Amino acid sequence: MTTRLYSHPIFLEHLTPPGHPERPDRLRAIARALDDEAFAHLDRVEAPEGDEATILYVHPESYVEHIRRAIPEEGIVSIDADTSVSPKSWQAALTGVGAANAAVDDVFSGKADNVFVASRPPGHHAEKTTAMGFCLFNNVAIAARHAQKKHGAGRVAIVDWDVHHGNGTQDIFWDDPSVLYCSTHQMPLYPGTGAENETGAGNIVNAPLAPQSGSEAFREAFRSRVLPAVDGFAPDLIIISAGFDAHHRDPLAEINLTEEDFDWATGQLMDRAARHCGNRLVSVLEGGYDLQGLSFSVAAHVARMMKG
Ligand SMILES: [Zn+2]
Repeated sequence: MTTRLYSHPIFLEHLTPPGHPERPDRLRAIARALDDEAFAHLDRVEAPEGDEATILYVHPESYVEHIRRAIPEEGIVSIDADTSVSPKSWQAALTGVGAANAAVDDVFSGKADNVFVASRPPGHHAEKTTAMGFCLFNNVAIAARHAQKKHGAGRVAIVDWDVHHGNGTQDIFWDDPSVLYCSTHQMPLYPGTGAENETGAGNIVNAPLAPQSGSEAFREAFRSRVLPAVDGFAPDLIIISAGFDAHHRDPLAEINLTEEDFDWATGQLMDRAARHCGNRLVSVLEGGYDLQGLSFSVAAHVARMMKG
């Protein structure tokens, strides 16, 4: 497998208030974990700046301007209870969009079989017109639309294993049967959405997990809900909303997964990508707030992507 990694120093310059879990050290920990002989063949590429026009695939112009106007010249400004922006946040967010779109280009052009995007801020809580949950622009939703508009993908599957429900992605594709959205997440937990009976146009598959559940419940949800939905959908591209906050060390939730679970889930989705879409798989970082849990999990995830 040719596996590409996108990152960029600008992602470290999106600043959050002291003590905030979504912090630049997350990416530094990931970089350290991937700076190992085991990843010598990882194709490391600096993320390109994004094309603002692609943000409009999923967010209205008024929202984009709202975010742009919120960016301060100095300091950190809150735009909701737990989401904030700093002077370089616009460039970081736009580069995150650019990286996810470039990853889609790469798997369609054959430059890579699969791609991991190590970016921040994350995206899956960003709804069409609402920034929330540390997220500004919905990176995976924009990338899915980019695959459809630029590469003619008919069906895109987004699988979200972040421990929080991706309310933003669900909101954006609620009535769009060309995009399948499958999510495993703890419930009850922020943001409160993600019940099984939220099914959209039949294209939304929510598999909530009870607090204190772990590997067995997660894998069962994958086997019984997520994987059959992906197989039934036969996507042209699989995108992972790759949050690693369901790790047992994570401070924001009570699901007890290990690195081996992320390795396993990655392998399952790679099997489906091989079966349905010529291996095309793009994984975009979402949450994960314990530096060891996050970095070890990303290492397991990327190692599996490289191995096939
Ligand atoms: Zn999360």
